[in-house]
Amino acid sequence: MLEPAYQADVVIVGAGVAGLSAAHRLTSAGVTTAVLEAAPYPGGRMSTEKIDGFRLDRIGQLLSTAYPDLRLTPSLDTLALRPFAPGVLLHSDGRRHRAGAWARPMSARRTRGALHAVRALASAPRAASVRGVPGQTSLPRVRASAPLGTAVDQARLGAALARLAASPVERLLARPELPAAQALAARGVPARTIDGFLRPLLAALLCDPDLTTSSRCADLALRTFMSGRLCVPEGGAEALPELLARTLPPGTVHTGVRVTSIATTSVTTAEHGEIRCRAVLLATDARTAAELLPGLRVPDFHPVTVVHHTTDEPPTTGASLLLDADRGGPVAHTAVISQVDPSRTPAGRALISSTVLGTPPPDIDTAVRMHLARLYGTSTARWETLAVHHTPEAVPAMRPPHDLRRPVRLLAGLYVCGDHRDTSTVQGALHSAHRAATAILTDLGAAGSLHRAEPLRAAA
Ligand SMILES: Cc1cc2nc3c(=O)[nH]c(=O)nc-3n(C[C@H](O)[C@H](O)[C@H](O)COP(=O)(O)OP(=O)(O)OC[C@H]3O[C@@H](n4cnc5c(N)ncnc54)[C@H](O)[C@@H]3O)c2cc1C
Repeated sequence: MLEPAYQADVVIVGAGVAGLSAAHRLTSAGVTTAVLEAAPYPGGRMSTEKIDGFRLDRIGQLLSTAYPDLRLTPSLDTLALRPFAPGVLLHSDGRRHRAGAWARPMSARRTRGALHAVRALASAPRAASVRGVPGQTSLPRVRASAPLGTAVDQARLGAALARLAASPVERLLARPELPAAQALAARGVPARTIDGFLRPLLAALLCDPDLTTSSRCADLALRTFMSGRLCVPEGGAEALPELLARTLPPGTVHTGVRVTSIATTSVTTAEHGEIRCRAVLLATDARTAAELLPGLRVPDFHPVTVVHHTTDEPPTTGASLLLDADRGGPVAHTAVISQVDPSRTPAGRALISSTVLGTPPPDIDTAVRMHLARLYGTSTARWETLAVHHTPEAVPAMRPPHDLRRPVRLLAGLYVCGDHRDTSTVQGALHSAHRAATAILTDLGAAGSLHRAEPLRAAA
């Protein structure tokens, strides 16, 4: 329980990955920090439901070993990541084709030592660990013809993606900005390459089936795809915020505390009255942030539904991410997630997790089962539905013009972070937290020594 008179240098509102990551940077610098979280547990959108020995995520399954802030965030260096098989499987015309494994594959030797793998990919001092890499491959790996067009189309696509992966981020951000679908067509990419590969891949990476996202964000997503491996945290999405929360100084995170108003030198809570501090960092979702700070922009959101099934006879796709290039049903992407991360299921059971983008159909379970039967080429009649998680405001839309570095310092003493200030991904949430913590440390350092209760000066 918080004492009503509790004081901290910084109060952070919200214990999602952004708030927790900012707390790490602040406490590491000696700044006393209190993280107030309305829910009974930390993690925000990265929560994992436990049912009968299954660990079921709310979010889609797509992190990347190339997210820089997974390596650069204090304490995440021990996070275990489970990679998908290289590239993706595309379902087209009743057949499955592997594609998109042009990225530099990790050698078996490198992946054996957990820390080495991501270091080899990124040459970074901090590294998340990658465990178990089924299905090694060699370059180039494009066996398919149907969804990717002719051999010449495939060679062009491979070369274009390799150029994208090698381009500095600043160069990508200087390109003209259009909705992604328009930009792909304007660049002369053949329609079959767009529809057969880029559209389903980008839809999955951006949670945007219509590709209305800024082409700059789409380029960044493809660059990340080419530079690393798609992966999931071992044990469920919540492993990431749990690790952050667990490695903070004891007593930093206070759950079940809802903030009802904020100022530069205090927050008011529903349960514990006013809490005084020297700076406030708002780390909630975009809608709550705008309620607490009228004037902040509320973006549109992409709704996402994740459906979890179990069976004792797993489909034969291994640890691959399977995309539907035909758009023949509601499922955008699906995976036998127990093949990627066996720790999410009880022994002898397979877990199939499938993502539906946009407004879900009325009888979603029936529609998803019928679609999955075609995608996996097997009957799903005996599959058991474990959960259907629908999040109407899952991912902030990033339509052009999209500001990838929305300000995090509103005035001295008042800061905001979260995926809505950056890119709408875990990487964006972590990076916005990094920026906000840096701004706070600069301001607190300039305002005088830490751990004093006097209020900050008014903003200039
Ligand atoms: C279905 C779905 C699929 C996704 N797929 C992907 C993906 O494939 N790849 C990817 O990178 N990202 C994906 N994301 C996005 C990713 O989950 C988010 O970008 C990230 O978790 C955002 O973290 P955050 O800390 O900014 O916000 P949140 O996780 O929303 O955290 C905000 C916290 O603030 C708390 N809070 C709110 N109001 C108050 C209040 N008044 N007082 C106190 N606390 C409050 C909330 O309870 C919450 O814990 C997906 C998200 C969803 C929902």
